[in-house]
Amino acid sequence: MNATDDITTEESSAVTLDHVTRTYKRDEFEVRALDDVTLDIPRKSFVAIMGPSGSGKTTLLNLVTGIDHATSGRVAVGGEEISTMNEREIAAWRARHIGLVFQFYNLIPVLTVAIARAIVTDPTILVADEPTGDLDAKSAEEILILLTQLKTQFDKTIVMVTHDPRSERFVDAVYRLDKGVFTGAEKGGVSAKATAALQISA
Ligand code: ADP
Ligand code: MG
Repeated sequence: MNATDDITTEESSAVTLDHVTRTYKRDEFEVRALDDVTLDIPRKSFVAIMGPSGSGKTTLLNLVTGIDHATSGRVAVGGEEISTMNEREIAAWRARHIGLVFQFYNLIPVLTVAIARAIVTDPTILVADEPTGDLDAKSAEEILILLTQLKTQFDKTIVMVTHDPRSERFVDAVYRLDKGVFTGAEKGGVSAKATAALQISA
């Protein structure tokens, strides 16, 4: 599957990036953190943004949450264009539409609190930057199962930045970045199986 070839319309998309470029100035040099990225993330999906360190993963997440602005191009979340909002509008919008899931370390109870909030406030998307960070295999799997449950049982859309290959089998799709370029999306490993197992055990 290639996300840009998908027939998904913006109404069924949680996130749309349309020719998005983000450059930063460092001394006299220009760093192209994201380079003409066009992609779609469907609603009610759990996706991973993967790529080597410095490939633009956090930059992409920051654009989707309105923490940062694109240098050019268009960013829409839940069908709403956020790239044209001013700071006040974006702050109000973020409070309603974005759920942030922070790094968990070993605090599963904290995650349960984050999940409770996500369900109560019903944000358009949940975002997580490297949630399984330094976790051991078992804890990482618990986190990934909980995130999967948020999707299957509560219809959440989850966008997770990670370079943890253990997460691939839990997600619906992996979106790959390389040096700021989106190189395509592919289906996650055994996501369908993992989902079925969760529904049986629920
Ligand atoms: P990743 O999360 O994939 O490791 P980042 O999105 O953090 O990558 O960074 C992508 C590129 O943009 C890197 O070369 C990084 O150094 C650069 N970059 C990110 N944020 C800034 C910033 N605020 N100022 C200058 N350069 C930045
Ligand atoms: Mg990062």
